[in-house]
Amino acid sequence: MAEETSRKIGPVVLLGPPGAGKGTQSQLIARRYRIPHVSTGDILRENVQNQTVLGRQAKANMARGELVSDTLVCDMVADRLRQPDSLRGFILDGFPRTAAQAGWLDAFLEQEFFDKSDSHKRYPIVICIRVDYNKLSLRLTGRRTCPACDRIYNVYLKPPLADEICDVDGSKLVIRDDDRTEVIQERLAAYERQTTPVVEYYQQKGRLVSVDGDQPTPEVTKQIFQEIDSYAADVAGGR
Ligand code: AMP
Repeated sequence: MAEETSRKIGPVVLLGPPGAGKGTQSQLIARRYRIPHVSTGDILRENVQNQTVLGRQAKANMARGELVSDTLVCDMVADRLRQPDSLRGFILDGFPRTAAQAGWLDAFLEQEFFDKSDSHKRYPIVICIRVDYNKLSLRLTGRRTCPACDRIYNVYLKPPLADEICDVDGSKLVIRDDDRTEVIQERLAAYERQTTPVVEYYQQKGRLVSVDGDQPTPEVTKQIFQEIDSYAADVAGGR
């Protein structure tokens, strides 16, 4: 199917535990619909690397696999969504992670996003990728990232052609700090503890769509595209 350039898509939220394939699916959605991929984890890591004020405040929590405070993350997301490239729509990956962030996002969209870009209200479509808990650990411990092009590999499930080397640019692959085994347990526990209320928040509002993340990646992508297409048709029709 042709890529999108002008159709209004609306806000898309992708939920799922660490290792569910949110990063991969977000990149595919962003490319297909030409909307920005807003990953709070990526923005935070960039800030840590550049030693910004935000990065210094977030670093310790991230290294321990804990969540960064709602205030810091919400301010950061607001800055990003106010960029003009978000007006047709955007995909949020890794946000919201708490019920407070979900409530903040609805209020933010009502106050700023709906008014500027549209005459009718459009709450996000929320897609939850569900994956068997035991498979997550394998996905996470095998994950390697290319520091140059951000391509994601898995040494067990999707290995590069040459050991630990990026197929595209030949860079040495790295293990993200928060993919280290000791951090993974805490990240999964934090997800269960804090994000379950987010799933419930959207479920109660009838806005949650679940996709089976244990299927092959192209199948997961196909289902996600179908959901977004029907949502975007509603956005265009003002329903
Ligand atoms: P991720 O790459 O999405 O797994 O995020 C990596 C780390 O960044 C997390 O373990 C948290 O420490 C932090 N982080 C990312 N998104 C959020 C968020 N929405 N709220 C709080 N902390 C976050």
